[in-house]
Amino acid sequence: MMIPNRSEYLKSLAQSGQKIMGVLPALYPRELLWAFDIHTAEIWDPPGEILHANAHLQTTICPIVKRSLEFILKEPEIINAGYLFPHTCDSLQNLGTQVKDLIGVNVPVYTFYNPKGSFNNTTTKYYREILQNFQTTLETVYEPLNPEKLLSACVLGHKIDSRLMAIQQARMTNHLSLDNSAYFELMRAQEYLLPLDYLNLLGKIDILEQAIEPARARLMVSGILPPSPEVLKFLDELGVSVVADDLLAVSRRIPKFPMDAPLLPLDYLTDRFFILPPCSTRAGDLEERLHHIDKLMQASQAQGILFDIVKFCEPELFDHRLLVKTLRERNIPVLTLETELQAYLSGQDKTRIEAFTELLFDMVSA
Ligand code: SF4
Repeated sequence: MMIPNRSEYLKSLAQSGQKIMGVLPALYPRELLWAFDIHTAEIWDPPGEILHANAHLQTTICPIVKRSLEFILKEPEIINAGYLFPHTCDSLQNLGTQVKDLIGVNVPVYTFYNPKGSFNNTTTKYYREILQNFQTTLETVYEPLNPEKLLSACVLGHKIDSRLMAIQQARMTNHLSLDNSAYFELMRAQEYLLPLDYLNLLGKIDILEQAIEPARARLMVSGILPPSPEVLKFLDELGVSVVADDLLAVSRRIPKFPMDAPLLPLDYLTDRFFILPPCSTRAGDLEERLHHIDKLMQASQAQGILFDIVKFCEPELFDHRLLVKTLRERNIPVLTLETELQAYLSGQDKTRIEAFTELLFDMVSA
């Protein structure tokens, strides 16, 4: 599986004149931007040392915000159409205000205030309104939106969702022969590939007719981002397969069930938003989240769950204590790691992962 390198790919797109918007985590109407021919380059965990961002931020801010600001302060040339800050959490909302009003950048800064809470008349009406407002804002910068282009973008988004759902299902049922590292590299490529390139890449992934031999143990992961490549590689070496996820960057952005092909774009985008899986960043009901995790664990036959918590992530920490307590009461093995998005695996975490996987192996052989 050949996946283009993120930075080389985006540089070459920018050099070809492609409009590129830097999008902060996590939920935003990507199809609307595609319809304006704006490519979205998502900014989650840009690599590199934090040199200047700390001067603008409190010490108790999560590393995603720190790294994102460091990236923005470098004024990367690839971002030529502005930045978009969805309202994922207070930290990102504050960062958006800071970048726009205090720091200042030489490209436009947009915000998108996702509704919190669940589906009801007020939240759906509100969501439609913010979609329309965002469209109007973009029309003042670019040109009036071509409705055909928005429909085509929704059709493309729908095809990507359908293929991702099929791949996830194959992962849960042993019909995919990708190791943990390759699987999450594939999932994360959607953060920067053009949608058509991403769909083509997904189309090349083999969904096997015959199930393969299951790994020694099966794990579900929960958190914001997939575990680091070092953790994934270590799990591969131990013979543990990550078969399902409850990650904001991955499956919490894919609808819970298949949707009909889009006919009316704004209706489609509104419906899609409200059938995303429950998420700590949308102030969802914890019971609903537990039910969703349960369903995924059963469908994937995962024996345990790894919470990979980004340090100082308030929304995740808010749900985490009760989730762990309830899962433990149900005799589900749980391991929690805290990550600062470091590019190494500490000896202590290695030992904890080994001990946890021994527990899973014992469950399998019992
Ligand atoms: S890791 Fe948590 S606190 Fe940080 S940006 Fe993401 S949701 Fe917000």
